Amino acid sequence: MESMGGLESDLNKMREYYESRKTKEASWRQTQLKGLRRFLMEKQEGIMKALMQDLGKHQLEAFRDEIGTLIKTLNLALKSLKDWMSGKKAELPQLALLTSAEIVPEPLGVVLIISSWNFPFGLSLEPVIGAVAAGNAVVLKPSELSPACSSLLASDLTTYLDNNAIKVIQGGPQETQQLLNQRWDKIFFTGSARVGRVVMSAAVKNLTPVTLELGGKSPAVVDSLSASWDIEVAVKRILVGKFGTCAGQACIAIDYLLVERAYCSKVVDLMKVWIKKMFGDNPKHSKTIARIVNKHHFFRLKNLLDDKNIKGTVVYGGSMDEENLFIEPTILVDPPLEAAIMSEEIFGPLLPIITLEKIEDSIKFISSRPKPLALYVFTKNQTLQRRMISETSSGSVTFNDAILQYAADSLPFGGVGESGFGMYHGKFSFDTFSHQKAIVRRSFLTDFWFRYPPWTLNKYQL
Ligand code: NAD
Repeated sequence: MESMGGLESDLNKMREYYESRKTKEASWRQTQLKGLRRFLMEKQEGIMKALMQDLGKHQLEAFRDEIGTLIKTLNLALKSLKDWMSGKKAELPQLALLTSAEIVPEPLGVVLIISSWNFPFGLSLEPVIGAVAAGNAVVLKPSELSPACSSLLASDLTTYLDNNAIKVIQGGPQETQQLLNQRWDKIFFTGSARVGRVVMSAAVKNLTPVTLELGGKSPAVVDSLSASWDIEVAVKRILVGKFGTCAGQACIAIDYLLVERAYCSKVVDLMKVWIKKMFGDNPKHSKTIARIVNKHHFFRLKNLLDDKNIKGTVVYGGSMDEENLFIEPTILVDPPLEAAIMSEEIFGPLLPIITLEKIEDSIKFISSRPKPLALYVFTKNQTLQRRMISETSSGSVTFNDAILQYAADSLPFGGVGESGFGMYHGKFSFDTFSHQKAIVRRSFLTDFWFRYPPWTLNKYQL
């Protein structure tokens, strides 16, 4: 089922297959996870080529953010599968003599995964791993905006998997809408808040549970670090967390910086030095920085920069090449907060810096805006660290680095408020695609007369 023809009957067949309980077998799940791993290993070259074609993504980024990260997740899932699948004992009150309880995970059924274009393999397969490990049948709908990657998933990935239960359907909004009109047991969506709302409305009809992995403006707070080593490391990590991660086209890319006014020029000067070291004197010819995905997004970013409200705030970069969909790493200082660049998610290589009187002012700045997916804080100040955790809300907080949290299987990945809800990665992915069934086992050996009607006060007073 790579096209939409006969969708309903294909989905009915998938449901019948799911109901045969085949996908619940541990051996079936293992075979699919191994198939996914073989796909990533054997098709590595093709995957890298497709990522280069769609996004100009360097091989190293392709391996770091997609292939390598996915293989790591698959290794963990294969190693942990039996444990994840097993029932977990639950404690009961003492009164429940000779009674035991456990929590048994069961698959949800036939699930739909809709993904985004910026990490076309990572954002598609990371949830597929969780869904398959949990024993579900899966339809994956990758993004039409990364066509080389999506067609590789549709043509090659499926040859490694049991197509009775795992399918890839390509298409854009119209096809996604057709999919959303069907009955699902779970919808896992990665994308914008706008389409997230469309997904949620469609899920209402069948009370389908949804996970929404959305985006937003993820800030990085940069405290006035006194040691030159610390500030240099911070600047390098900020640059790689912005320009070195799909050219800033990442949901957890740093959207803007918050810096003390008196410290700003130091940060900007170091950034200028390190941008050149990382991307060369003429980044347009650099293969290290990814390209903008398409003309629509190129002009969206160009409009953000052409906005007359931000005139005079660009302190570095700003050049663009429409033909090659290239935008130079660009730094702005203090664009007005009402400008589009400070109210919309940037999703590209433009980095505004907002200066503040005191770094502590960043807490109010962040908490008065929609809750971000990620918050980065570069500081050694323990009090500031504690305050950031307790006085702001975000999907995650990372101190003194960026993006790293994405690769940690032990951490839940997901948003809060406008950045979405639900979580995945590692065991959290398995749980996202499972129902936690409560099991109680009672014995006939003990029984108490006072638990049965008729209700009399002496039973209550016992
Ligand atoms: P998008 O919402 O435009 O598209 C996401 C998916 O929805 C695609 O598969 C697309 O085909 C489909 N779609 C688009 N319009 C639709 C419509 N009208 N009806 C039904 N389906 C539709 O988002 P995008 O451009 O792919 O991604 C950018 C956004 O996604 C950013 O906001 C970014 O922050 C967010 N994002 C979040 C994560 C995360 O893990 N939280 C990861 C990547 C991107």
